[in-house]
Amino acid sequence: MVEAKRSWLYRKLAEKRDLGEAPPEKEYVSGEGFLYLGRSYRLRIVASGDVRLIRGRLELAKGGAAKDLVRWYRRVGEPWLRKRVQPWVSRMGAEMTGLRVRPLGYRWGSCSQDGQVNIHWATMQLPPTLIDYVLVHELAHLQRPDHGPEFWRIVERAMPGYEDYRQRLRSRGNELWLPEEGR
Ligand SMILES: [Zn+2]
Repeated sequence: MVEAKRSWLYRKLAEKRDLGEAPPEKEYVSGEGFLYLGRSYRLRIVASGDVRLIRGRLELAKGGAAKDLVRWYRRVGEPWLRKRVQPWVSRMGAEMTGLRVRPLGYRWGSCSQDGQVNIHWATMQLPPTLIDYVLVHELAHLQRPDHGPEFWRIVERAMPGYEDYRQRLRSRGNELWLPEEGR
């Protein structure tokens, strides 16, 4: 029990710095760019309504700010990720009981021993192949909470060549938008 707790803690410390700590500042004006699934979309300020991505523009109501965009990433991210994760769950035989999108500080993801996977909403800014790596990583943790050799064997088996994604994820972390309201 103590051993298990220690490895979970170790994992938390190890992943604390995965997401950059000095994200670029954003302005909530027409023309500002926001990433979604690896592509940049310009903001268009409209009179009213919920945030939505339409005709290549991200619409934000006048007076809107970070919290509205964070809410949008969470709203679109959850169904997208729940669908995206399914083939990986099957391939890895993972016992995932649910997936939620939420702020997780500076971590991409976390999971609990009852099979619940949590993914940081900021992950939705990444290209889909890197999001896959985050998903595979968390699903592998459902079998192994630590980052030992067996853990990496599980990741490698599911996603051969994962090292490349892991490296790219490290460098992309600093480029992502992570406002205070979404940490
Ligand atoms: Zn991990």
